[in-house]
Amino acid sequence: AKVLLKVENLKKYFPIRHGMFARHIGDVKAVDDVSFELFEGETLGIVGESGCGKSTTGRAIMRLHEPTAGSITFDDVELTALNKEAMRKARRDIQMVFQDPYASLNPRHTIEKILEEPLIVHGIGNAQERKKKVHEYLEIVGLSAYHAKRYPHQFSGGQRQRIGIARALMTNPKLIIADEPVSALDVSIQAQVLNLMQKLQDDLQLTYIFIAHDLGVVRHISDRVGVMYLGKMVELAESESLYNEPLHPYSQALLSAVPIPDPQYEREQLILKGDIPSPSNPPSGCTFHTRCPKAMEHCKTVVPKLQQVKPGHSVACHLYDA
Ligand code: SF4
Ligand code: MG
Repeated sequence: AKVLLKVENLKKYFPIRHGMFARHIGDVKAVDDVSFELFEGETLGIVGESGCGKSTTGRAIMRLHEPTAGSITFDDVELTALNKEAMRKARRDIQMVFQDPYASLNPRHTIEKILEEPLIVHGIGNAQERKKKVHEYLEIVGLSAYHAKRYPHQFSGGQRQRIGIARALMTNPKLIIADEPVSALDVSIQAQVLNLMQKLQDDLQLTYIFIAHDLGVVRHISDRVGVMYLGKMVELAESESLYNEPLHPYSQALLSAVPIPDPQYEREQLILKGDIPSPSNPPSGCTFHTRCPKAMEHCKTVVPKLQQVKPGHSVACHLYDA
């Protein structure tokens, strides 16, 4: 398959300033040297605890957060080289779905107005065509034209997320970055929204980055999964390989909470000690060494690099050094 998105050495540092002269005293390394490719039509799940940099990665790809360093190639265009206006146009092809659809839908606008807005912003269609498309997309996400004149508060959480998804689809994007799209929903509703997203992916040939804090949520929807910890991608693998044989001790710990899909594999159960260190002062060497049950002496000083250890499966951990 074609590479739709290539992220190389992406960094997003947020400066920490102090005192009346706003002296720069350090950086929060929210995303610290992340690289991956995304193939057309696939779903890449990105998973990690809050503060691991998964949302910042999504926003940096869209340049909603300006990357500190690195390269983002989308559809053969280097996004970091685009000026503001060209980047605004590029966002027609990359859209986001957010965790809390209620917060991202203007409460004073009708659904019709909310869905029409991206079309107006990108100069797509005349008033009549826009209205037709709004009604069509309400149907596509399982609502109906009958809902067009209603306001966000008149919908349930699941329906609001359907509206959020419809809004993201209005410009016919190629890539959807979904940032915890089902985390705020009841488990029964989560499955409905995930099924809808899978159907839309097939019908509309979409490519997804699906961000979640829980490996269970992304299991069925993801072709590959990346696990992030303190701003770094620590494991990146095809889903089956990751869920059956997680290699990084952090992934093993995250997966201890998720049932084993294939009982022929045995999985070590790992329990993490301590809290996530602050991303403004990450541990030296492997940033996971303070919590890793398998840490070795050199883990404290040598940063492990993400390296492929078997086909379709990469990990950043000294346990797998040749
Ligand atoms: Fe644990 Fe060392 Fe591997 Fe880091 S590099 S995950 S500390 S074993
Ligand atoms: Mg899929």
